[in-house]
Amino acid sequence: MRHNEPVAIEFSERIRRIPVYPAAGGYALPEDVAPLASNESPDPPLPEVLEAARRALAGANRYPDPTSGRLRRALSDRYGVPGARIAIGNGSCDILLAAGEALLEPGAELVYAWPSFSVYPHLAAASGATAVTVGLDAAHRHDLDAMAAEITAATRLVIVCNPNNPTSTALPFADIAAFAERVPRHVALMVDEAYCEFSLLDDPDTTLDLLGRHSNLVLLRTFSKVHGLCGLRVGFALCGSEDFPRAVDQVRQPFFCNVAAQAAAVEALRHQDAVAARVERAIVARVEMESGLNALGIEPADSQANFCWFDLPQSADEGDVVRGLSERGVLVRAGAALGRDGALRVTYGTPAQNARFLDALGAVL
Ligand SMILES: *Cc1c(COP(=O)(O)O)cnc(C)c1O
Repeated sequence: MRHNEPVAIEFSERIRRIPVYPAAGGYALPEDVAPLASNESPDPPLPEVLEAARRALAGANRYPDPTSGRLRRALSDRYGVPGARIAIGNGSCDILLAAGEALLEPGAELVYAWPSFSVYPHLAAASGATAVTVGLDAAHRHDLDAMAAEITAATRLVIVCNPNNPTSTALPFADIAAFAERVPRHVALMVDEAYCEFSLLDDPDTTLDLLGRHSNLVLLRTFSKVHGLCGLRVGFALCGSEDFPRAVDQVRQPFFCNVAAQAAAVEALRHQDAVAARVERAIVARVEMESGLNALGIEPADSQANFCWFDLPQSADEGDVVRGLSERGVLVRAGAALGRDGALRVTYGTPAQNARFLDALGAVL
């Protein structure tokens, strides 16, 4: 054995398959950038939420409650779903990846739309299952008829992202309800509702009604977006049966949700008025951004989220635009990395950040 030769570690086959998610820039940049690349909330956590997290940290010499008991009770009270039908995660991505592990294997199939959330491709890559992707319609929305047509005897999981990331569009409740009727009982139907609070199409609680009718339904939600706690990593799933929470708990380490995250999430649920205020600000931003984009000759997709999605003018090069914006301190997400060349995804920030983005885009174009 010669020790002076560099020999690369041999990793598993799946490491070659799993896509690497491009990190948003800006973590090492000066304070005054406008970070509009990750669909975060521009508002800092509420003082009461920070205080709850701080108090919980005083007990950080103890492991967190592995059942997230207080949080599941608080979620159960808020959403009217029994605690045993609620899964908790280290962010909702943790539940997504665990669902892949619990449901998928070589020979199994997974159906989702594309472009959609960048984490979905990991599920098939990590498990060796087959991903069946279905294009969006001309208005950048899910084509549920086409998705239903892709369900086979091998399908284990269907994911509908509503509102959809990165395209910001949503389908109305009636479409989701009709689709749920068409998905066979033994196939898990996950509706990723990370942005549901921002949609004006329906009350975000409407889909809860479907849980009583469909034991295979999983509504994936998060504290990362409207609650503005993405740095703490806590998400949850409201489920039509106890089987799903049990299965995702089986494939994970027991202490996936830390003490500060659990306490902060419980406190955040007590402030539904703050949720409503954040939604209102996002909707004001939506109107401002839409009219600002229209003034530049750009027609964004019909946003029901806290971000917008649009094709750049034919003459503009996506790479040049993203670079030009970043030179002006505005960070956005390039469409190429998300499945559509020549498109941009831009999170709504503070009024000042939005104005800065619109000025910068005007200058770059
Ligand atoms: C942001 C986002 C999530 C939430 O991820 P967390 O892990 O909870 O931070 C889930 N789904 C979609 C589509 C998202 O955009």
